[in-house]
Amino acid sequence: MIPIRYSIVPARPEAHLYRVTCTVAEPDPAGQQFALPAWTPGSYMIREFARHVVSMCAESRSRSVRIEKLDKHTWRAAPVAGPLSVSCEVYAWDLSVRGAHLDATHAFFNGACVFLRVLGQEHTPCAIEFLRPYGARYRNWRVATSMPRRGAKPWGFGTYAAADYDELIDHPVEIGGFRLASIRAGGVPHDIAITGRHEADIRRLERDLKRLCEHHVRFFGNPAPMKRYLFLITAVGEGYGGLEHRASTALLCAREDLPRARDGLMSECYRNFLGLASHEYFHTWNVKRIKPAAFAPYDLDRENYTTLLWAFEGITSYYDDLALVRCGLIGAKDYLELLGRSITNYLRAPGRAKQSLAESSFDAWIKYYRQDENSPNATVSYYGKGSLVALCLDLLIRDKTRGKKSLDEVMRALWLHHGRAGVGVDEDGIERLAEEVTGLKLGRYFDEWLRSTKELPLKALLATHGVNMQLRPAESAQDKGGKPAASKSIGGLAMLGVRARVEHEDTAVTHVLEGGAAQAAGLAAGDVIVAVDGLRPGKTGLDALLARRHPGERVTIHAFRRDELMSFEVELARVEADTCVLAESAGANRLRERWLGRRSG
Ligand SMILES: [Zn+2]
Repeated sequence: MIPIRYSIVPARPEAHLYRVTCTVAEPDPAGQQFALPAWTPGSYMIREFARHVVSMCAESRSRSVRIEKLDKHTWRAAPVAGPLSVSCEVYAWDLSVRGAHLDATHAFFNGACVFLRVLGQEHTPCAIEFLRPYGARYRNWRVATSMPRRGAKPWGFGTYAAADYDELIDHPVEIGGFRLASIRAGGVPHDIAITGRHEADIRRLERDLKRLCEHHVRFFGNPAPMKRYLFLITAVGEGYGGLEHRASTALLCAREDLPRARDGLMSECYRNFLGLASHEYFHTWNVKRIKPAAFAPYDLDRENYTTLLWAFEGITSYYDDLALVRCGLIGAKDYLELLGRSITNYLRAPGRAKQSLAESSFDAWIKYYRQDENSPNATVSYYGKGSLVALCLDLLIRDKTRGKKSLDEVMRALWLHHGRAGVGVDEDGIERLAEEVTGLKLGRYFDEWLRSTKELPLKALLATHGVNMQLRPAESAQDKGGKPAASKSIGGLAMLGVRARVEHEDTAVTHVLEGGAAQAAGLAAGDVIVAVDGLRPGKTGLDALLARRHPGERVTIHAFRRDELMSFEVELARVEADTCVLAESAGANRLRERWLGRRSG
């Protein structure tokens, strides 16, 4: 089969324009159709990448061919007998892990943003040529991608290959003057390419990522499913994100998140970075290979519905931090702090009483990925609640089988029966397999945890593993939970029942929480609070102003709604104890030690 030939050049970095060409040896005689995906796998939102195509033209044997648009992301060329080349200019100014970006400092893209899909030839192999932009300033640029080379030198421009279109768009590409590091883990070479200004301690990063990757490979069982793996890291002033692929991941982080030589201990931001790397690496198995039947294959033209994102994102979110404690990168106390924060996050969203986990997953396309001021009141996160359901499931199985079985075995069975075997998971597949592997009747739990909005039995299940769960009121807007209270004061935002951000000397309400004092008084998202009992909130926000107030007291709030000044009488509410603190109970607990991996791996 003659491969489809693509070429891409960062043609005009200063204008953020790539030139991409696609040449088809045997176009459809009725007129070849081309399309760009509406979304990119791993990021469940319709993004319509075709909107960034600035211009397009086609030719065959040096003669121009007419090309017309059929719908928002499909084109059709006039019938031709011989090879057909379509060339387009693509605008790229989205510095996120799921987009495409280009300026004079670097180029980054996901294939779904730039490579046309040749309809009817999705399974044809592809040959891709990466071309260096013209100009002396790009002389030192190199290419980092997990796409296999065909003629190009390591890290070089030149020709690469993909088995089909699906594979073509699963290898993000970074082009520029990145810094490189390398490790081996599970017998597989892993490279780390870091873009952006940073002072990272590369040796430490190599050492910690090696430990983490080896842990995950051992977890699912040798051999690792990929021949090579690449971490593409972009360090910026402020940013956070990751997108998983079968042989690589793109990570966006703050440069502060990377470890620095002078940091001896584990900083909170580096711990978060390792959690992100762990999450995306776990996806190499869970979602890139073990995947919902609804994603096999992906339909790139429209939404792909599944109720299983709780498992693919939630279980992955459960194991990302758990892996850090199991492989010794953080201690149990740190892990329980992270878990306490996750529980706090979950308890602070009133939407958990409205939306089930299965519904959250199914509606990811229009809700989780398109959040607004009402989201905390109406939705629950399939990441957050999903990870807590994974925790409950793991602890329940461990408790009921006296530590003989766990969620770990369920994941390994999913890998054997679905991931390695290449069989999509049916909507009820995880539930069936979990019962089969553990020998337990779990239907009632799945019904409650996935398909209802009943509260999760977190406290009772944690207690079976020697972990005490305590709840207390939030102390301030910065109080994320996970730690005991530092003072006796209660946060002003909590008493008001809002989320807000300080804007200059005022406080802008971003969310009004269901059933809270602010909602009862008539405050709304977008209101800018300019005074509480006649005093301006100032740079410290409402917490300082309300610090000495008590639930039940009344305050007068002045706020602008659009350009209208309004006055609200608010009765401060009794604050819910929604901030979670976890601690190991005294004495040894065999189940806890096994769960956290401190005995037997
Ligand atoms: Zn994920």
